[in-house]
Amino acid sequence: MTEKLLSDVEYNYKKINENIALAAQKIGKSREDITFLAATKTVAADVINYAISLGLDHIGENKVQELISKYDDYNLENCSLQFIGHLQTNKVKQIVDKVDLIQSVDSVKLANEIAKQSIKHNKITDVLVEVNIGREENKSGVYPENLDELLCQMAQIDGIKVKGLMTIPPICDNKHKISKYFNNMHNIFIDISQKKLDNIDMTILSMGMSADYYEAILEGANMVRIGSSLFGARDYT
Ligand SMILES: *Cc1c(COP(=O)(O)O)cnc(C)c1O
Repeated sequence: MTEKLLSDVEYNYKKINENIALAAQKIGKSREDITFLAATKTVAADVINYAISLGLDHIGENKVQELISKYDDYNLENCSLQFIGHLQTNKVKQIVDKVDLIQSVDSVKLANEIAKQSIKHNKITDVLVEVNIGREENKSGVYPENLDELLCQMAQIDGIKVKGLMTIPPICDNKHKISKYFNNMHNIFIDISQKKLDNIDMTILSMGMSADYYEAILEGANMVRIGSSLFGARDYT
Protein backbone atom coordinates (compact mmCIF):
# COMPACT_ATOMS: atom_id res chain seq x y z
CA MET A 1 0.00 0.00 0.00
CA THR A 2 1.51 3.28 -1.09
CA GLU A 3 0.84 6.92 -0.22
CA LYS A 4 0.08 7.56 -3.87
CA LEU A 5 -2.58 4.86 -3.97
CA LEU A 6 -4.26 6.19 -0.83
CA SER A 7 -4.28 9.78 -2.04
CA ASP A 8 -5.77 8.57 -5.35
CA VAL A 9 -8.47 6.69 -3.47
CA GLU A 10 -9.23 9.77 -1.40
CA TYR A 11 -9.43 11.97 -4.50
CA ASN A 12 -11.60 9.43 -6.35
CA TYR A 13 -13.87 8.94 -3.36
CA LYS A 14 -14.62 12.68 -3.18
CA LYS A 15 -15.05 12.95 -6.93
CA ILE A 16 -17.50 10.04 -7.10
CA ASN A 17 -19.52 11.48 -4.23
CA GLU A 18 -19.72 14.78 -6.07
CA ASN A 19 -20.82 13.07 -9.28
CA ILE A 20 -23.46 11.07 -7.42
CA ALA A 21 -24.75 14.28 -5.85
CA LEU A 22 -24.87 16.02 -9.25
CA ALA A 23 -26.78 13.17 -10.88
CA ALA A 24 -29.18 12.97 -7.94
CA GLN A 25 -29.86 16.72 -8.03
CA LYS A 26 -30.56 16.53 -11.72
CA ILE A 27 -33.62 14.39 -11.04
CA GLY A 28 -34.73 16.10 -7.86
CA LYS A 29 -33.10 13.69 -5.43
CA SER A 30 -30.31 14.33 -2.97
CA ARG A 31 -26.97 12.64 -2.32
CA GLU A 32 -28.47 10.74 0.63
CA ASP A 33 -31.00 9.04 -1.63
CA ILE A 34 -28.23 7.13 -3.40
CA THR A 35 -26.13 4.38 -1.83
CA PHE A 36 -22.53 4.23 -2.99
CA LEU A 37 -21.30 0.65 -2.69
CA ALA A 38 -17.64 0.00 -3.47
CA ALA A 39 -16.99 -3.18 -5.47
CA THR A 40 -13.85 -4.43 -3.73
CA LYS A 41 -12.68 -7.40 -5.79
CA THR A 42 -8.86 -7.65 -6.01
CA VAL A 43 -8.50 -4.73 -3.55
CA ALA A 44 -6.47 -5.36 -0.39
CA ALA A 45 -8.29 -5.08 2.92
CA ASP A 46 -6.10 -2.22 4.17
CA VAL A 47 -7.00 -0.14 1.10
CA ILE A 48 -10.68 -0.97 1.59
CA ASN A 49 -10.38 0.03 5.25
CA TYR A 50 -8.82 3.31 4.22
CA ALA A 51 -11.86 4.04 2.02
CA ILE A 52 -14.09 3.10 4.95
CA SER A 53 -12.19 5.60 7.11
CA LEU A 54 -13.14 8.28 4.56
CA GLY A 55 -16.82 7.52 5.06
CA LEU A 56 -17.51 4.66 2.65
CA ASP A 57 -20.27 2.60 4.26
CA HIS A 58 -21.11 -0.17 1.79
CA ILE A 59 -18.74 -2.67 0.22
CA GLY A 60 -19.43 -5.67 -2.00
CA GLU A 61 -17.35 -8.70 -2.86
CA ASN A 62 -18.10 -10.92 -5.82
CA LYS A 63 -16.17 -14.08 -4.99
CA VAL A 64 -16.78 -16.27 -1.95
CA GLN A 65 -13.15 -17.30 -1.58
CA GLU A 66 -11.94 -13.73 -1.66
CA LEU A 67 -14.54 -12.55 0.81
CA ILE A 68 -13.57 -15.30 3.26
CA SER A 69 -9.87 -14.59 2.95
CA LYS A 70 -10.29 -10.85 3.62
CA TYR A 71 -13.14 -11.11 6.11
CA ASP A 72 -11.17 -10.91 9.35
CA ASP A 73 -9.31 -7.84 8.11
CA TYR A 74 -12.24 -5.62 7.09
CA ASN A 75 -13.17 -2.87 9.49
CA LEU A 76 -16.93 -3.35 9.37
CA GLU A 77 -18.05 -1.34 12.40
CA ASN A 78 -19.59 1.37 10.23
CA CYS A 79 -19.81 -0.50 6.95
CA SER A 80 -22.20 -2.98 5.41
CA LEU A 81 -20.64 -6.00 3.68
CA GLN A 82 -22.63 -7.39 0.76
CA PHE A 83 -22.23 -10.14 -1.80
CA ILE A 84 -22.61 -8.96 -5.40
CA GLY A 85 -21.25 -11.79 -7.56
CA HIS A 86 -22.59 -15.02 -8.95
CA LEU A 87 -23.22 -17.35 -6.01
CA GLN A 88 -23.10 -21.13 -6.21
CA THR A 89 -25.59 -22.91 -3.99
CA ASN A 90 -22.91 -25.04 -2.33
CA LYS A 91 -21.02 -21.95 -1.18
CA VAL A 92 -23.92 -20.14 0.46
CA LYS A 93 -23.13 -21.57 3.88
CA GLN A 94 -19.69 -19.94 3.86
CA ILE A 95 -21.02 -16.39 3.65
CA VAL A 96 -24.55 -16.23 5.02
CA ASP A 97 -23.42 -15.28 8.54
CA LYS A 98 -21.03 -12.63 7.21
CA VAL A 99 -23.06 -10.51 4.78
CA ASP A 100 -25.92 -8.04 5.22
CA LEU A 101 -27.32 -8.47 1.72
CA ILE A 102 -26.91 -10.83 -1.22
CA GLN A 103 -27.52 -8.96 -4.49
CA SER A 104 -27.41 -11.77 -6.96
CA VAL A 105 -30.27 -14.20 -6.37
CA ASP A 106 -31.77 -15.52 -9.57
CA SER A 107 -33.36 -18.88 -8.76
CA VAL A 108 -35.65 -20.51 -6.21
CA LYS A 109 -32.96 -23.10 -5.56
CA LEU A 110 -30.47 -20.45 -4.51
CA ALA A 111 -33.11 -18.57 -2.51
CA ASN A 112 -34.03 -21.77 -0.65
CA GLU A 113 -30.42 -22.49 0.24
CA ILE A 114 -29.85 -18.93 1.51
CA ALA A 115 -33.01 -19.29 3.59
CA LYS A 116 -31.98 -22.66 4.99
CA GLN A 117 -28.53 -21.43 6.02
CA SER A 118 -29.96 -18.16 7.38
CA ILE A 119 -32.38 -20.02 9.62
CA LYS A 120 -29.47 -22.06 10.98
CA HIS A 121 -27.85 -18.75 11.98
CA ASN A 122 -31.10 -17.42 13.35
CA LYS A 123 -31.23 -14.61 10.83
CA ILE A 124 -33.23 -13.35 7.91
CA THR A 125 -30.98 -12.47 4.98
CA ASP A 126 -31.90 -9.53 2.80
CA VAL A 127 -31.58 -10.29 -0.91
CA LEU A 128 -31.97 -8.58 -4.27
CA VAL A 129 -33.15 -10.45 -7.33
CA GLU A 130 -30.72 -10.16 -10.21
CA VAL A 131 -32.40 -9.44 -13.54
CA ASN A 132 -30.75 -10.24 -16.87
CA ILE A 133 -32.10 -7.12 -18.51
CA GLY A 134 -30.19 -7.63 -21.77
CA ARG A 135 -31.33 -11.27 -22.02
CA GLU A 136 -27.72 -12.39 -22.51
CA GLU A 137 -27.34 -16.17 -22.59
CA ASN A 138 -24.02 -16.29 -20.78
CA LYS A 139 -25.10 -14.02 -17.95
CA SER A 140 -26.66 -14.63 -14.54
CA GLY A 141 -30.00 -13.17 -13.63
CA VAL A 142 -33.64 -14.00 -14.26
CA TYR A 143 -35.23 -12.91 -17.54
CA PRO A 144 -37.70 -10.06 -17.06
CA GLU A 145 -40.66 -12.21 -18.10
CA ASN A 146 -39.88 -14.74 -15.36
CA LEU A 147 -39.38 -12.20 -12.59
CA ASP A 148 -42.94 -12.08 -11.23
CA GLU A 149 -43.09 -15.85 -10.88
CA LEU A 150 -39.73 -15.96 -9.07
CA LEU A 151 -40.76 -13.15 -6.71
CA CYS A 152 -44.02 -14.90 -5.86
CA GLN A 153 -42.11 -18.05 -4.97
CA MET A 154 -39.46 -16.16 -2.99
CA ALA A 155 -42.12 -14.26 -1.03
CA GLN A 156 -43.15 -17.53 0.55
CA ILE A 157 -39.71 -18.56 1.76
CA ASP A 158 -38.89 -17.92 5.44
CA GLY A 159 -35.34 -16.84 6.17
CA ILE A 160 -34.95 -14.40 3.29
CA LYS A 161 -36.43 -10.99 2.56
CA VAL A 162 -36.49 -9.52 -0.95
CA LYS A 163 -35.44 -5.85 -0.83
CA GLY A 164 -35.29 -4.98 -4.51
CA LEU A 165 -33.57 -5.65 -7.82
CA MET A 166 -30.06 -5.64 -9.24
CA THR A 167 -28.82 -5.74 -12.80
CA ILE A 168 -25.66 -5.72 -14.90
CA PRO A 169 -26.65 -4.57 -18.39
CA PRO A 170 -24.79 -5.61 -21.54
CA ILE A 171 -21.59 -3.76 -22.36
CA CYS A 172 -22.65 -0.85 -24.55
CA ASP A 173 -20.63 1.41 -26.79
CA ASN A 174 -22.82 4.43 -26.15
CA LYS A 175 -24.58 6.16 -23.28
CA HIS A 176 -27.93 6.20 -25.03
CA LYS A 177 -28.07 2.41 -25.28
CA ILE A 178 -27.05 1.84 -21.68
CA SER A 179 -29.58 4.41 -20.48
CA LYS A 180 -32.28 2.45 -22.26
CA TYR A 181 -31.44 -0.71 -20.31
CA PHE A 182 -31.44 1.26 -17.06
CA ASN A 183 -34.76 2.81 -17.98
CA ASN A 184 -36.27 -0.62 -18.73
CA MET A 185 -35.05 -1.85 -15.38
CA HIS A 186 -36.52 1.13 -13.56
CA ASN A 187 -39.88 0.56 -15.24
CA ILE A 188 -39.87 -3.05 -14.08
CA PHE A 189 -38.93 -1.91 -10.57
CA ILE A 190 -41.81 0.59 -10.49
CA ASP A 191 -44.28 -1.95 -11.94
CA ILE A 192 -43.48 -4.43 -9.22
CA SER A 193 -43.55 -1.76 -6.50
CA GLN A 194 -47.05 -0.83 -7.58
CA LYS A 195 -48.24 -4.43 -7.37
CA LYS A 196 -47.46 -4.31 -3.63
CA LEU A 197 -46.72 -8.03 -3.44
CA ASP A 198 -46.95 -9.48 0.07
CA ASN A 199 -43.60 -9.90 1.75
CA ILE A 200 -41.67 -8.25 -1.10
CA ASP A 201 -40.02 -4.85 -0.56
CA MET A 202 -39.02 -2.86 -3.62
CA THR A 203 -36.70 -0.36 -1.95
CA ILE A 204 -33.33 -0.97 -3.61
CA LEU A 205 -32.57 -0.69 -7.31
CA SER A 206 -28.88 -1.57 -7.69
CA MET A 207 -27.44 -0.65 -11.10
CA GLY A 208 -24.59 1.38 -12.54
CA MET A 209 -20.84 0.80 -12.32
CA SER A 210 -17.74 2.95 -12.89
CA ALA A 211 -18.45 3.69 -16.55
CA ASP A 212 -22.15 4.44 -16.23
CA TYR A 213 -23.25 5.17 -12.65
CA TYR A 214 -24.19 8.75 -13.57
CA GLU A 215 -26.59 7.52 -16.27
CA ALA A 216 -27.93 4.82 -13.93
CA ILE A 217 -28.84 7.39 -11.28
CA LEU A 218 -30.56 9.56 -13.87
CA GLU A 219 -32.69 6.54 -14.79
CA GLY A 220 -33.63 5.72 -11.21
CA ALA A 221 -30.86 3.66 -9.60
CA ASN A 222 -30.64 4.24 -5.85
CA MET A 223 -27.59 2.04 -5.35
CA VAL A 224 -24.50 2.12 -7.56
CA ARG A 225 -21.63 -0.37 -7.41
CA ILE A 226 -18.30 1.21 -8.20
CA GLY A 227 -14.90 -0.48 -8.35
CA SER A 228 -12.20 0.77 -10.71
CA SER A 229 -13.19 4.46 -10.58
CA LEU A 230 -12.52 4.35 -6.84
CA PHE A 231 -9.58 1.96 -6.49
CA GLY A 232 -7.98 2.22 -9.92
CA ALA A 233 -7.67 -0.45 -12.59
CA ARG A 234 -7.80 -3.95 -11.17
CA ASP A 235 -4.66 -6.03 -10.94
CA TYR A 236 -5.55 -9.71 -11.25
CA THR A 237 -2.02 -11.02 -10.94
C1 LIG B 1 -16.67 -5.41 -10.29
C2 LIG B 1 -18.12 -5.19 -10.18
C3 LIG B 1 -18.67 -3.90 -10.22
C4 LIG B 1 -17.85 -2.66 -10.41
O1 LIG B 1 -17.19 -2.63 -11.64
P1 LIG B 1 -16.34 -1.33 -12.10
O2 LIG B 1 -16.57 -1.24 -13.54
O3 LIG B 1 -14.93 -1.58 -11.72
O4 LIG B 1 -16.91 -0.16 -11.36
C5 LIG B 1 -20.04 -3.78 -10.07
N1 LIG B 1 -20.85 -4.85 -9.90
C6 LIG B 1 -20.37 -6.10 -9.86
C7 LIG B 1 -21.31 -7.23 -9.66
C8 LIG B 1 -18.99 -6.32 -9.98
O5 LIG B 1 -18.51 -7.58 -9.94
